[in-house]
Formats: sequence, structure tokens, C-alpha cells
Amino acid sequence: MTGKTLLIVEDEKAIREMLVFNLGRAGFTLREAVDGHSARSMVADRFPDLILMDWMLPDISGLELTRQFKRDETTREIPILMLTARAEEDDRVAGLEGGADDYIVKPFSPRELLARVNAVLRRYGGGGDALVSIGGLTLDAAGHRVSVGDEAVALGPTEYRLLSFFMQHPDRVYSRTQLLDRVWGGNVYVEERTVDVHIRRLRKALTPSGCDRLIQTVRGAGYRFSAREG
Ligand code: CA
Repeated sequence: MTGKTLLIVEDEKAIREMLVFNLGRAGFTLREAVDGHSARSMVADRFPDLILMDWMLPDISGLELTRQFKRDETTREIPILMLTARAEEDDRVAGLEGGADDYIVKPFSPRELLARVNAVLRRYGGGGDALVSIGGLTLDAAGHRVSVGDEAVALGPTEYRLLSFFMQHPDRVYSRTQLLDRVWGGNVYVEERTVDVHIRRLRKALTPSGCDRLIQTVRGAGYRFSAREG
């Protein structure tokens, strides 16, 4: 298992099945959307690690949907790989200008598909097994472990997801609403106060090592994870 979830947005059943088969075998968790409408609601429900976007969808063009995701501050960091039957230079350029991170031209081999998916994921950090180390705190995404020096830090699942998000997006302020979207998923009804509760638990878990100082409250704005002084 790679622990990564990919969202396939493709209306052609045969291609979806081929993608699910090959990427599933490579250890990815797959979700499937058959049009732009369902793709949007699935993304809002839970952020995928990457979107495979077909160019021609029944209700919207994949290019336009890519533009929309890349324009929206909450979804712009989701990598998008476009699937296109169009080999023309102009279309490739349009895809990349629309914000796609890469494209793959149909028909493609399973090997090429996997290489492109992994290349885009690697470019976004992560890659599944990356170690992130900030301010003395180390997050091992592959092992699902957090440590300070040799000491493991025990965290609940929500605190782990919260910390993992922070460590992959350091030095940026996130509002409570943005954190709810990114860590909890946009369709889940959770009060903003819930964020504060989990921040408090996370800080408490990090207090013995002094790493609680990395989670900074930015008055009137939200929270920031940073090794620099707030
Ligand atoms: Ca199509």
C-alpha cells in the first residue's frame, strides 16, 4: 500500500476499469467520479492525493474543471494529471496552462501511467515515504510516526492528520475553516471550535519536548506551523 488516494475523473467505464486495475495493483486507493459534478463533491468530501482528469467529460471539460480546482485556494495544491486523447501540441499547452501538473496521451501503457503518477506525486513532496523534519520534530509518513530525537510522540488520529498537514505546509497561516476543509474534509459538519480542541490536544502532546511552540496562534487569522518565531 502506498497510502495515497487517487481520484479518477473519467466517464468511459473501460478506461476507468483499466486505471483502477493498474493503479490498484500498484497499491493506490482509488475513487471514481464519472462527471464534473460528482468529482467536485468527492473532492469536497475528502481531498485526494492526486486527480487523474479526463479531458472530455459529459457536463464540463476536464480542462475547465482543472482550472476551477487550481483557482480555488483550498484545492489548488491537489496535483492533477490530465488524460487526453489529443496529441496536438496546442492542446497539451492548454492543459498545462490550465493548471494541470502533467498530462498523459491515450492510449498509454500501465508502465507509463505509473511513472507519470509517481513523478507528479514526487514533485509534490510526499511520495508516500518522505520524512519531514522541522524544528526538531520528525514526521515519518510511511511509518505513520512522529518523533522528537529518539522519542516517539503518541498522537490521536486527528492530531496526527493535523500535524501532518501542518508539516507539509509550514510557515503559512490557515484559518479554522481552511483547516476543516483540508484536514477534516469539506462535507463533514464540524464546528470551528473543534479545530481549537484538537490544536490544544496536539500542543499538549508536543509540550514535553517543547515542540508545542511550533504551533502558533495568529490572532484573528488562525494557526501557523513554523520553526521561526511568530
Ligand atoms: Ca471522456
